[in-house]
Amino acid sequence: MLRLTDLKLPLEHTEDALRQAMITRLGVKPADLLGFTVFKRSYDARKRGHITLIYALDVELRDEAAVLARLAGDAHVGPAPDVGYKFVARAPASGGDFHRPLVIGFGPCGLFVALLLAQMGFRPIVLERGKAVRERTQDTWGLWRKRDLNPDSNVQFGEGGAGTFSDGKLYSQIRDPHHHGRKVLTEFVAAGAPEEILYVSKPHIGTFKLVSMIEQMRENITALGGEIRFSQRVDDLLIEHGHVRGVTLSDGTQLRSDHVVLAVGHSARDTFEMLHGKGVFMEAKPFSIGFRAEHPQSQIDTCRFGPQAGHPILGAADYKLVHHCRNGRSVYSFCMCPGGTVVAATSEPGRVVTNGMSQYSRNERNANSAIVVGISPEDYPGGPLAGIALQRELETRAFELGGGDYNAPAQLFGDFLAGRASTALGEVQPSYKPGVTLTDLAPSLPGYAIEAIREAIPAFARQIRGYDRADAIFTGVETRTSSPLRITRGDDFQSLNVKGLYPAGEGAGYAGGILSAGVDGIRVAEAVALSIVAGR
Ligand code: FAD
Repeated sequence: MLRLTDLKLPLEHTEDALRQAMITRLGVKPADLLGFTVFKRSYDARKRGHITLIYALDVELRDEAAVLARLAGDAHVGPAPDVGYKFVARAPASGGDFHRPLVIGFGPCGLFVALLLAQMGFRPIVLERGKAVRERTQDTWGLWRKRDLNPDSNVQFGEGGAGTFSDGKLYSQIRDPHHHGRKVLTEFVAAGAPEEILYVSKPHIGTFKLVSMIEQMRENITALGGEIRFSQRVDDLLIEHGHVRGVTLSDGTQLRSDHVVLAVGHSARDTFEMLHGKGVFMEAKPFSIGFRAEHPQSQIDTCRFGPQAGHPILGAADYKLVHHCRNGRSVYSFCMCPGGTVVAATSEPGRVVTNGMSQYSRNERNANSAIVVGISPEDYPGGPLAGIALQRELETRAFELGGGDYNAPAQLFGDFLAGRASTALGEVQPSYKPGVTLTDLAPSLPGYAIEAIREAIPAFARQIRGYDRADAIFTGVETRTSSPLRITRGDDFQSLNVKGLYPAGEGAGYAGGILSAGVDGIRVAEAVALSIVAGR
């Protein structure tokens, strides 16, 4: 198989045109082209009205070796790399003399740790504080519809983890030399995700599909001898002479194991406090704070795609913005959800946090995106937990500004830039449920962040015309952009000072998004498997 990259065709083209372009580009006869698959398809929309599709194709030819030799100097033609996944270990056939590995957390990271361990025969036990995804959906909607928060089963906690009620974006900029991302996507497709996620450049799944996929993946793990236990919160670690020996659950039950994966996500603040109290090494790390912005999706589509807005291949347009401010801060868009809604994402009572989600169709009226300012431990001195203290402070303030009933505080861009409280909506209707309270958002974030965002909005309008429209809406606050700390691990993927403990995924500071959390889960599963097989 040969890989041909950077093949450009107009947005509207036939399959025959694609074949013809391949034949011409490779200089072969039509009869020599035996077959092809699309490995990746992206688009170049820099020239509005002349959008091109860019293909990477895996091509099967009659005399492939000759073509490869003839095009040896061509950077866009080469042998197709093997992206198939190869297991690094197998559990001993007899069952072996080891306690089953424990995986704390069943978000995308814990899910892939458990799936890979199960596929290698290690029969992991997953402990998840939240409920199974269908029951969890009820609890999550309980906050959105009835202002009723369940602190252990919500948008952050429960089967599927934080990204279950999301846009389901599945791309990441991590280095992935072993193609683990491909394994993640392949497993998602096997569990019911649309096949296109394997080849479109910015795949996404949307909330409803994610829910049923997660159920399917749970069944796969269980069928392979793994176990997933819901409503089981890990409240303590058993550590003996610098080695983890098991966990204690919230009901007092103890489970023993020498291999414990910590995939608890970035919102497990009580768990971080427990780990810090036990002396597990951790350090503060940068994260970002800001608001969710909402604009009409049609405006973003027209701005990005011009006359080709609405084309089914392009779908709802996204955007990516960044501005470096005079005060040294950077403001950027994050977790952009085309055609989606802004959601209440708190896991703690008396706090308000925003995030975004969408369905696969991305056909809601508004585009939303976090507009956030990067901050670092110098902004919150005081040790590894100081970032959490700042998040809590800002989320509590947002709750109060919203009126103390889980409404989120919101402000129109025009009023935000002018420094006055909003009193009435314009054309853009906020999508946040249970509702917003119009106010002045300036007191909700530190002064430097407000100043930076005020400077960034007009700059963004130079990239997306009308981005600064006066009736666009900010809803606050966005504080859980990534983990405020890192539970540092060594080259063996284990905690620096507690052997057998594997910090993993977003909460430990090793991922930022569904795909990268899944990839980290695979890496950690491999490390656990190799350690068990080696008898360490
Ligand atoms: P998590 O998904 O947070 O999972 C951690 C799990 O651990 C949770 O289920 C939690 O209940 C459990 N847990 C915590 N503490 C304990 C304990 N003590 N005992 C037992 N269990 C525990 N990312 C994208 O890539 N694309 C998107 O479109 C996207 N949209 C998002 C939308 C929303 C609304 C949110 C909230 C997040 C979104 N994200 C998105 C981010 C993404 O969800 C996370 O990056 C990802 O889920 C991190 O995976 P994780 O497995 O490391 O942690």
